Amino acid sequence: MEGFAHDFLPGRVVFGAGSLDQVAGEVEGLGVRRALVIATRSARDAADVVEIALGNSFAGRIDGVTQHVPTELADQARAKAREVDADGIIAIGGGSAIGLAKAIALTNAVMIVAVPTTYSGSEMTPVWGETAGGGKATGRDLRVLPRVVVYDAVLSQGLPLGVTAASVANAVAHCVEAVWTPRADSITETFAVEGLRKLTAGLQSVLVAPTDLEARGELLYGACLAGVALAAAGTGLHHKLCHLLGGTYNLPHAETHAAVLPQVARVNAPAVPEAKRRLEEALQTDDLAGRLFELFEAAGVPTSLRALGLTEQQAVEAAQKFEPTDNPVPVTVELTTEILTRAWAGTRP
Ligand code: NAD
Repeated sequence: MEGFAHDFLPGRVVFGAGSLDQVAGEVEGLGVRRALVIATRSARDAADVVEIALGNSFAGRIDGVTQHVPTELADQARAKAREVDADGIIAIGGGSAIGLAKAIALTNAVMIVAVPTTYSGSEMTPVWGETAGGGKATGRDLRVLPRVVVYDAVLSQGLPLGVTAASVANAVAHCVEAVWTPRADSITETFAVEGLRKLTAGLQSVLVAPTDLEARGELLYGACLAGVALAAAGTGLHHKLCHLLGGTYNLPHAETHAAVLPQVARVNAPAVPEAKRRLEEALQTDDLAGRLFELFEAAGVPTSLRALGLTEQQAVEAAQKFEPTDNPVPVTVELTTEILTRAWAGTRP
């Protein structure tokens, strides 16, 4: 076995259907005096429950968030946090709500309690992102890592299947890419492979029974493992391409993964044969890239960038703009052009 150094991140996970009831107690346990609640629109009822349970520690609320954390929105949220003297943020929603909480934590001294309702995995990472002037800045900072994450499958029971499938594609991408980034190691790979197994099993179950709590729980657990893998391994070629596309052409984050991942897996996986074998075992296939494509297609997620509104010219432009990154296969303009033109057309790997 090859040598490695692995950093574990601090944090507490509370998992279980109905655990929304534990949020106020967790906030109190952290010693938070003034909690600002950020809730995605569809999580308003859950935010109401938390608001009442918080009692005197409730300091204010931000309802409604936008994808990719526009700087303007982040500035407003930071001002609101200062105005209400918040020392804690409770983010209820997907990666966008959690992303806004992280934007506040980057500049204000606040502790985050995350209550994810999608499978983005952002709640387990110290990675932040903010969009301005047609570009997305991202960074890593322990101040933005949620102190407590509360996973309650009841909250994701009503997540529409289209959003579910795209969000699972996002989490699957964390697991797959975690095996080939420059910081990949054996411990992370264990989380990634198990995360992939849970995510694909859960996805297949919810496609048949969308409100099944067991399957929703399996997906949240898979998303948690995917987030752990992302936090440890960081991002590589695949995520960097997705961030470029999302930030420059405003493509929807989760869906972009479904179109790009099979194409990146096609070129990268053969260069990491042992990890490829483990991921394929989890998916019960001997063709990782092809199976990922089929999985997303069967779940109804668009597998082409064309379907997301990108033009072929923009795909080529993005490929040329992309700055080379460490990758098991050298990143050249030819390689990124091949990946993005195939992803644009939705060519089966
Ligand atoms: P999102 O948070 O925008 O949610 C997607 C949609 O689902 C929204 O319309 C939302 O209102 C809806 N929704 C959320 N929960 C729902 C529920 N329970 N029922 C019904 N509808 C619900 O999108 P996302 O895919 O969760 O997150 C994407 C964002 O997260 C991107 O900005 C991405 O860059 C970021 N992200 C960050 C990290 C990180 O580590 N920093 C990791 C992954 C993703």
